[in-house]
Amino acid sequence: MSKIVKRHPRDSFMIATKLPAWELKSADDVERVFNEQLERAGVDYFDFYLLHSVEDGNNYDTYVKYDCFNWCMDRKKEGKIKHFGFSFHGSPELLEEILDKHPEVEFVQIQLNYLDRTNPVVRSQKLYEILRDRNIPIIVMEPVRGGMLANMAPEIEEKFKNRQPEKSVASWALRFVGSLPGVMTILSGMSSEAQMEDNLTTFKNFEPLADDELATIDEVTEDILSIPQIGCTACKYCCDGCPMKISIPDVFRTINTLRRYPDDWRSKNFYQGVVQRHGKAADCIACGQCESVCPQHLPIIELMKEAAEILDK
Ligand code: SF4
Ligand code: SF4
Repeated sequence: MSKIVKRHPRDSFMIATKLPAWELKSADDVERVFNEQLERAGVDYFDFYLLHSVEDGNNYDTYVKYDCFNWCMDRKKEGKIKHFGFSFHGSPELLEEILDKHPEVEFVQIQLNYLDRTNPVVRSQKLYEILRDRNIPIIVMEPVRGGMLANMAPEIEEKFKNRQPEKSVASWALRFVGSLPGVMTILSGMSSEAQMEDNLTTFKNFEPLADDELATIDEVTEDILSIPQIGCTACKYCCDGCPMKISIPDVFRTINTLRRYPDDWRSKNFYQGVVQRHGKAADCIACGQCESVCPQHLPIIELMKEAAEILDK
């Protein structure tokens, strides 16, 4: 970072960073962390400064406890912050509450992509509407859902490929968020030069989605959501009695994601972490203990066979 600062005039680039709630153990830590960030970046101001991961409970409570919203606005008055906002992972109710209390916030970063529009946990559509109602610029995170919307089942990807063989599947996800009014910036994680080239191509000559393309996205969304999921509620009633110490709900969580996104490396990594501490799906000896206690009456033995085929070969 310092090298960039040395090689280019400060007003020729923009730097964004965030205040992490989990680093704050006292009010003094707010200033300490901020000053360390300035020093590490080699700058005397940040263009965009965010409270990191505001969500119901812990993080938000910490920011309130140490008066971080007002503290950041004071730094803005001093010119050390040019634009102040926060990244958000909480409920629509909390978002409304914060914006009522802090109308001075200049932008909000939310998880937004075509699949999470109706996700009951993320509730992207609702968050988006709240920000639009208040005319607050939006920074989008997870537009490709951690790469999942670039790696779907072949029969689903075909719907995009049939329409635009030369365009990547990921480009549809980026164009979806890029076509939404109010979106100021789209943050897309990239793990290869090819992905970066592809994203640059998408935005160089940006084409907003036409209505019939939006209909294709709706169709793909429905296809993905209609892939059957294992109805495990993660109650863990089955876990203690498993003689092979298999973390059954974690196996099902992995399989549910992989049924929708067969190449999702994050789920595979997650499973590898699980089996370092627990048995693997292939260890199942079909004793039936789990099935006898599962309130959802899941055919766990059969599902373990499916999981072992996918995860343990
Ligand atoms: S059937 Fe398999 S998963 Fe279920 S308790 Fe027995 S060993 Fe564990
Ligand atoms: S008992 Fe059934 S629903 Fe509960 S965690 Fe085990 S598999 Fe899932």
